[in-house]
Amino acid sequence: MEVAVVGAGIGGIFGALVFRHLGYEVSLLEARDKIGGCAETFQRNGVMYNAGATTIPGLNPNYPLERLLTLLNLHDKVKKSYKLLDVVCVVSFEDGKMVRIFADPERTCEEFSQAFPIKGHRTFFSFVERTTRTLLTTPFEFNLNGGIISPLKSLFKIQNLRLLPYLPLAKKKTLSLLSAFYKNVPKELLEYFKAQTFIVGQVELEKANALALTLGIGYNFTGIAYSKIGVGGFLETLAKGLTVNFNCPVKRIERLGEGYLINIINEKIFSQKIIISFPFLENLSVFDSESYLYRYFSRFTCKLSPYSAFVVYGKIKKKVLANFTAKHYLIIGDRDSLKGTSSYLHLSILEQENGEFATFTVSTHTPIKLWANLDEEEVKKLKVELERKIIKIIIKRFEIKESDFVEVFSATPHTFKRYVHRVSLGGFSASVDTPFWSIPNNFTPFNGMYLACDHAFAGQGFMGIALGCLNLYYSLNRKAKD
Ligand SMILES: Cc1cc2nc3c(=O)[nH]c(=O)nc-3n(C[C@H](O)[C@H](O)[C@H](O)COP(=O)(O)OP(=O)(O)OC[C@H]3O[C@@H](n4cnc5c(N)ncnc54)[C@H](O)[C@@H]3O)c2cc1C
Repeated sequence: MEVAVVGAGIGGIFGALVFRHLGYEVSLLEARDKIGGCAETFQRNGVMYNAGATTIPGLNPNYPLERLLTLLNLHDKVKKSYKLLDVVCVVSFEDGKMVRIFADPERTCEEFSQAFPIKGHRTFFSFVERTTRTLLTTPFEFNLNGGIISPLKSLFKIQNLRLLPYLPLAKKKTLSLLSAFYKNVPKELLEYFKAQTFIVGQVELEKANALALTLGIGYNFTGIAYSKIGVGGFLETLAKGLTVNFNCPVKRIERLGEGYLINIINEKIFSQKIIISFPFLENLSVFDSESYLYRYFSRFTCKLSPYSAFVVYGKIKKKVLANFTAKHYLIIGDRDSLKGTSSYLHLSILEQENGEFATFTVSTHTPIKLWANLDEEEVKKLKVELERKIIKIIIKRFEIKESDFVEVFSATPHTFKRYVHRVSLGGFSASVDTPFWSIPNNFTPFNGMYLACDHAFAGQGFMGIALGCLNLYYSLNRKAKD
């Protein structure tokens, strides 16, 4: 095998597409019988549900996902499978206030100015838009491996120099950034900043770095798409034509001469190059504990986010769609009643092509530790309790009748462990203590081993993984031309 890609989630699919585009013969090895990982779309009782990821960001011209699709000539393949949203999300506050987030930052700023008539919005939103645009649309190469040569080369690349002024944001505290724009941030507005930072940066506002807050708010201005075939359907469209070996859980990876020996149940495969695209930091047992690979990667595990997800899935009658004016909602919940979660609920609607139903996914953060310490009965009890409370909030905020719910079920961190072999569900916490240069780079110190997943630069979701894959692409493409 020339290139083996372990894991067929967002990372594995884009990693494979990058290497195939560079001319390699690529095969994916996937533990399950379908692709997608945390971004899969599954069928149940005649309808489809997004399992985790529901928004596809970075699709405006030159933003990471759009740039990657352009470089890989994939626009034609996927253009029919998504639609850019104008109203990206609606924030539902506890007092009943609804604030729309538009794809256009100016309109969003006006909306916030009306909802929270204080000074500072204009300068803050224009800072967020400008910073997000510069950071996400500037091509860069970032390689911290290979002794001191590669990091030094990274630092002095002309295009990278444009990004240098923004580096301090990765060590700056969010509250100090906010105080530069606002005299006093009203409690509700602060809750929105907290929620958005948590969702994008996997970290509480107090610990987050200013980059997490800026990119958290700026995320909505990058070109957010909705896929009517589900996020998993979007990925399946992209993966068409790739060789995917299903039911191939990789048990062991060893270095062997100029390549890697990959152990899958009773079979051993040799591959010249390997792309790690599964949540390897939670599955370090694939490396021999005495090996340099294990020792090298184990130093990063403590940087993983301590949060997992609790997700409620629902099948609703189609007529209820009239109660939703947008596809995505950020619901600021009551902290006391939603104990055991962040209290920020991300609700996404998925319409179905046929039939009289729609589905929704509501996800929230929950501490891994909380679930690890519960026995089976306690897990069941907490699951039922959280599900009930979340549904109650949806019924109240969107004026839905209980009888309009056809089916409701939920996933705990244990469910994710069972299906996708991970409980930490967002990659790294973007905290002041974990700036992006302290997480694993896409280039490893091991010849022919690359990382393309949310356990590597630049972090979670389509955006982080696309940035990581662009980083791989630019560097490898240039090397091939040199
Ligand atoms: C509830 C929730 C909501 C989210 N919402 C969004 C969103 O709206 N937008 C967004 O961009 N991101 C979102 N994210 C984040 C995003 O889903 C993940 O960061 C991303 O899907 C991770 O992709 P990945 O390829 O790195 O890993 P994974 O999705 O974990 O994929 C890894 C794959 O590897 C396979 N695998 C595991 N172990 C092995 C093994 N030993 N051998 C072979 N295969 C293996 C797994 O089965 C899986 O298919 C969300 C995440 C969650 C949990």
